[in-house]
Amino acid sequence: MKDSYEKILEKSIQHDKLYEIIRVVDPVTKEVLFYKDNEWNLTNEPCYVFWGYDAPCPNCTSMRAINTNKNTFKIQYQLDKSYTVISAPTTIDGRWVSIELLSDATNSIDMVDETISEMKKIIEKTNELTIRDGLTKIYNRKFIDEQLPFQLTQAQNRKNPSFVVMGDIDYFKRVNDTYGHQIGDEVLKKVAELLSKECTLEGWAARYGGEEFILFLSNYSLEDAIEKITHIKNQIQETVFNFEKYSFSITASFGLAQIVVGDTPSTIIEKADSLLYLAKNSGRNTVKY
Ligand code: GH3
Ligand code: MG
Ligand code: MG
Repeated sequence: MKDSYEKILEKSIQHDKLYEIIRVVDPVTKEVLFYKDNEWNLTNEPCYVFWGYDAPCPNCTSMRAINTNKNTFKIQYQLDKSYTVISAPTTIDGRWVSIELLSDATNSIDMVDETISEMKKIIEKTNELTIRDGLTKIYNRKFIDEQLPFQLTQAQNRKNPSFVVMGDIDYFKRVNDTYGHQIGDEVLKKVAELLSKECTLEGWAARYGGEEFILFLSNYSLEDAIEKITHIKNQIQETVFNFEKYSFSITASFGLAQIVVGDTPSTIIEKADSLLYLAKNSGRNTVKY
């Protein structure tokens, strides 16, 4: 009698051939769970330490698995080893977690005749592309959805507050109508570049969609946050765009919302969006908080 499919699978798992490491991760808090003495416990180290990082992986497939309720996949490097990672969403006692199945892929990747360091660059680039916007190359919507939940859990641990800002270019439709869609694209790229340059320290900038951007500022006093966003707003206003025979400038409006205890990604984005709406209604080219 031949072994059943289940039997073969069971044997493979037992011999560590399918997955070298199986771990349970809460990607919102970055905690790793393990089962001992009939209950679930937490390890001392956050999940990303395994990869040699001191901050969450930019391409967090476990958060994506939970956000989409689908299995997700990536390849990731850990020192000189590479792993395939499958993240499968599930719940433990009502808490959403991801089961991460890790297989050592180092040797199979060597077979394609690349050096380890070249392959490492390719894999890092691939992980990076997943979270970048195709047009502007700044972070995309996926990055926002995957980073914000953890950032909200951390906001309370900082000395100063953290902020979510929604920015939107004023009368952008007119730019497209007057100068054409391609020039509109160039304006978006330039604004995105400016935003991400301004938000490197303890924060990030991402394209939320169309001509709307989300900025995250971590550990700022309210005064410093207002000053920062006002500075960004002024810089946009002062930028002169020169394309073909055209020379013009634009403005943008911003809603600056402070993260408070109990905020979720949707409540904080809603707050920033309402403040942006106020900024638009009070004549645009302004920051509301
Ligand atoms: P408001 O000041 O109220 O924000 O006015 P607006 O014209 O900026 O807003 P509206 O929502 O009416 O128009 C947004 C425009 O953004 C319409 C759409 O064609 C344009 N847009 C969205 N995504 C892109 C893109 O990727 N490239 C270009 N060129 N235009 C885009
Ligand atoms: Mg607009
Ligand atoms: Mg808009």
